[in-house]
Amino acid sequence: MTHQAAIELGQTLRVLAASAGDPAAQVTPDVIVGAHTDIDALRRAAEGASALTFDHEHVPTALLDELVREGVNVAPPPGALVHAQDKLVMRRRLQALGAPIPRFVEVTRPSDVDEFAAEVGGPVVVKAARGGYDGRGVTLAKDVAEARAVAERYLADGAPVLIEERVHMVRELSALVARSPFGQGAAWPVVETVQRDGICVEVLAPAPGLSRDLGVAAERLGLRLAQELGVVGVLAVELFETATGELLVNELAMRPHNSGHWTMDGAGTSQFEQHLRAVLDYPLGTTGQIAPVTVMANVLGGSRTPEMSMDERLHHLFGRLPEARVHLYGKGERPGRKIGHVNVLGAPGGSLDDATYVADVRERAVRAAHWLATAEWTDGWSGHE
Ligand code: ADP
Repeated sequence: MTHQAAIELGQTLRVLAASAGDPAAQVTPDVIVGAHTDIDALRRAAEGASALTFDHEHVPTALLDELVREGVNVAPPPGALVHAQDKLVMRRRLQALGAPIPRFVEVTRPSDVDEFAAEVGGPVVVKAARGGYDGRGVTLAKDVAEARAVAERYLADGAPVLIEERVHMVRELSALVARSPFGQGAAWPVVETVQRDGICVEVLAPAPGLSRDLGVAAERLGLRLAQELGVVGVLAVELFETATGELLVNELAMRPHNSGHWTMDGAGTSQFEQHLRAVLDYPLGTTGQIAPVTVMANVLGGSRTPEMSMDERLHHLFGRLPEARVHLYGKGERPGRKIGHVNVLGAPGGSLDDATYVADVRERAVRAAHWLATAEWTDGWSGHE
């Protein structure tokens, strides 16, 4: 998807991919096959390039520091990126910046769990500071005994561990912004992310029912963090909206993010183009929404791969929902794997404040994504009858 944007900007991307079949490797002739933990592979990827950027966060900062010393323009720079790699580093920095976050401590021995749980007096969440993704390495413990056991397990894995209060939230939001080296910032409207089992399944853009004040506060927070951390490119600030109307930062991502996939069809500039503009230090694009609401639904691999080919599923989908904007990633189907997404834009004239209108757009996006994943219609419809 970044490559699609690169084409329009007259840029070419060289891709470092784990294998030639990786999604990003499928769409460029210039592929280095290698590991993101191999300095020589990274060097070959960066050689002669105007910038080196990422579609995941896991390249070790020690290697990136080395590339920076060798003159590579790493964007976002490793000093910023580490805040998206290490939850403990991120929490401490946000605390120092006075950003709103849940109460937390580092766990170095199991008794830290008991002390913190006693202090908080409510449910807790245990997190491995590094290496997690889509909720792996995060446990919403049912009691202190479980929190302790999980902390011991994470500690045994060797990574730093932290424990947080479990936030009583009404929903999760994402403030997506971009920042260029010149210092320009741009914020998209704040969205609601709908999570299931630690995985984002839907995004409602903008977040329905969000007060103007809270929306502005979230956008400002995103822009401030991008500035303070020295981010170059897209920054997603994952937020909790609490029952008392507060915002707390959960996580940071420094790359095009699932909560921004709606922008491909629903905003003046897609997050992929914006990321490249920022990395290239171009002026940033407009971020306004195109429709009153855009709903993004992830296509998550079904529990078993349907017999019907994806080609035929698409054929049926477009017959029924011609407005569905489909984005497939060229990934094999596996249960729960994000293999694509569908965007549906609400018709002009509708309103984000009209629950029926929003529900209808949402239903169509979910129906389309579910069909692509499973070859089953959520409403039991059969096109052949
Ligand atoms: P990952 O790095 O795997 O995305 P996150 O830190 O984003 O992990 O946590 C995954 C999910 O766990 C969040 O989206 C949220 O639903 C839940 N979660 C994480 N931290 C807390 C917390 N302090 N309180 C309540 N829920 C939490």
